[in-house]
Amino acid sequence: MQQPATAARILEIAVPTPLRRTFDYLPGPHAPANGWHAGMRVKISFGHRDAVGIVVATKSESVLPAGKLKAIKDVIDQAPLPADWLALCRFTARYYQHSLGDTLFQALPVLLRQGRALEARTRERWSLTAKGHATTADALGRAYKQAELLEMLRLHRHGMVSSAITAQGFTRAQLDALSAKGLIEGAVEQAIAPAREHSDILAEPSLTLNREQTDALATLHTGLGTFFPTLLHGVTGSGKTEVYLQLIDAVLRRQQQALVLIPEIGLTPQTLTRFERRFSVPIVTLHSGMNDAERLDAWEAARAGRARIIIGTRSAIFTPMAAPGVIIVDEEHDDSFKQQDGLRYHARDLALFRAQTHDIPVVLGSATPSLTTLNHARQGRYHHIHLRQRAGESAQAALELLDVRARPLEGGLCPQALEAISAQLEQKRQVLIFINRRGYAPTLSCHQCGWLAECPRCDARLTLHRHPPQLICHHCDYHTRLPDACPSCASADLRPLGSGTERTEDALVSAFPETPVIRVDRDSTRRKDALSQTFEKIHKGEPCLLVGTQMLAKGHHFPHITLVVVVNADGGLYSADFRALETSAQLLTQVAGRAGRAEHPGRVLIQTHHPDDQNLLCLVQEGYDTLADNLLEERRQAQLPPFRHMVLLRGESAHLDLLTTVLETVSQELRAWLGEHARPVDCLGPVPAPMERRQGRYHMHLMLMSAHRAPLHDAAAWLANTLEHRPEARRFKWSLDVDPVGLD
Ligand code: ADP
Ligand code: ZN
Ligand code: ZN
Repeated sequence: MQQPATAARILEIAVPTPLRRTFDYLPGPHAPANGWHAGMRVKISFGHRDAVGIVVATKSESVLPAGKLKAIKDVIDQAPLPADWLALCRFTARYYQHSLGDTLFQALPVLLRQGRALEARTRERWSLTAKGHATTADALGRAYKQAELLEMLRLHRHGMVSSAITAQGFTRAQLDALSAKGLIEGAVEQAIAPAREHSDILAEPSLTLNREQTDALATLHTGLGTFFPTLLHGVTGSGKTEVYLQLIDAVLRRQQQALVLIPEIGLTPQTLTRFERRFSVPIVTLHSGMNDAERLDAWEAARAGRARIIIGTRSAIFTPMAAPGVIIVDEEHDDSFKQQDGLRYHARDLALFRAQTHDIPVVLGSATPSLTTLNHARQGRYHHIHLRQRAGESAQAALELLDVRARPLEGGLCPQALEAISAQLEQKRQVLIFINRRGYAPTLSCHQCGWLAECPRCDARLTLHRHPPQLICHHCDYHTRLPDACPSCASADLRPLGSGTERTEDALVSAFPETPVIRVDRDSTRRKDALSQTFEKIHKGEPCLLVGTQMLAKGHHFPHITLVVVVNADGGLYSADFRALETSAQLLTQVAGRAGRAEHPGRVLIQTHHPDDQNLLCLVQEGYDTLADNLLEERRQAQLPPFRHMVLLRGESAHLDLLTTVLETVSQELRAWLGEHARPVDCLGPVPAPMERRQGRYHMHLMLMSAHRAPLHDAAAWLANTLEHRPEARRFKWSLDVDPVGLD
């Protein structure tokens, strides 16, 4: 048999394993019509099981003798998976020091991982024929259901798909009957159908931009078709989203697609409606509520170019696109863009890589940009566009500090805060009380001996919950019932220490019995639609008190709220984590941004035990931007990120000795290697993690830092290689985190 020109002697195949290596196979009798290409999926036997693998290269030699190589079992794809996707995965695996196989499979929809073909599902769309239009329902006599169906379809100019029809209570038999009579016809279309030809891009007119927005859009227009990284730096409500929408409009007119990344908590029906109302082109959204088939549909439609706008959270960065035109990362500072386990990628950073390879603009939007992005902008690597005015009805609220030292606290609230709340309620307004701890109280303590409820498995306190009463560890989910007496001195005088959302809720209910108190935290919103129902209530505008955690701080704007009370701002001030101040300043500013409108600008009261803290004062008096500049300067002096880059090795074991010994040895060897190879990388540690014991296991860190990416990368690769081949390293868990967003 004649072999095609690209016939491969050996296939290099990536499989979903954490091992940083590929595996060689023979093609056997299989030969795809257009030859072998990287990105084709194949079936193989791997170890003792069948697996799907992805060809990443073809080659003529293997380190193994040909007799040792197995042949693949079958070919899945006749054409390779999208090239842009493959390139992104290769970069991701390299940059984050992760196994290529694992990266590729994590970046695929589940059904493709399992070997399903990459093709659009089809469905039938039913509409009236000419005869159907000319026929009245009466003509169908006693076939009432059919008559009803005919009338329903008459109302839908573009027809209806089968699933929508059956959802209305009609049956396949009724469709078939009308079809047999020649009154309706079905046409097969792809699951996500392309836009109708000659249809408009816009479904509703754009808003008239204000001066700042106009300038911003004009600048962004100049960047179309080139790599044009931009920080769109605008206070909450300054109209960033409107700028995105109009930029996307321009991209669509160039026959290109837009990818929009949104933080987990920001992907709300409100956000989606805004895009869907504006555009009449097909939009796909990737969110956790989708099933596997829908995910595959969306992925396929994006790859084929039928989906013109793709909106999703972190993992949507891996969606292939036929004609990419722009990538937008909204709330770019949000930490949910960083995956915190397995493949620890940052979707914002990958967005930059992707935009660069496609030669397209990337817009990073935020009211409180990350110091990393701000630094790039300050150094001139990104365009920096400011939106300083609020665009719509809202107005920026003023921040004030409340000194709570030596004040009596009711559910965490000082008398001044309670008075301010009461004054707003008298005006029939809404108040938001922000507290970053869920549960009733951060812990339970013994008033006699000072005993504190601690998690037996973690270096952490147990949180007291009331409904039902129990102690819960928020780190490992350990649950236990409340003790009747102190385990240490047997006293029965056990008291809650501090306040969580539940206790604040209780205090508010008794202080303001007339006013509804709505609590929003992970416990109160476990039910899927609970959160959106709650928000609907709040948007009605009736007076109420909202108590909640971060869930309330992001994404939503509450125009009827005229007062925000932050129960405790001190958590981030003196933390061991170098990013703690940055994230708490962002959070406080975002919370403040939820409130206020032109007529009632609103107040934000921040309770603190450190009213003289320089950073807190700076935030309150001068705002986030000034504080961010100060923090950047501190980071520069301390040579911390973003001025040096960081890689964190996390080690974890039930045996502290083993963990310490191996990490000590490896770090010494690494230092020797760095010296020998003249790599300017600092290696710190091993040191215990901030929470050393978690779930009964010990955690240690080794930290690498360098002003230069290349040597840091080499050092991380050396570490990964060394650990992967060290027998004793198999006895503990380790992972590498490139550009960590936290040191926990
Ligand atoms: P951001 O994304 O910066 O928080 P949005 O785009 O959501 O801001 O705008 C905030 C509010 O202002 C929205 O209700 C929006 O409809 C309105 N808005 C934005 N731009 C304009 C404009 N040019 N004219 C009138 N209203 C606007
Ligand atoms: Zn005691
Ligand atoms: Zn625990």
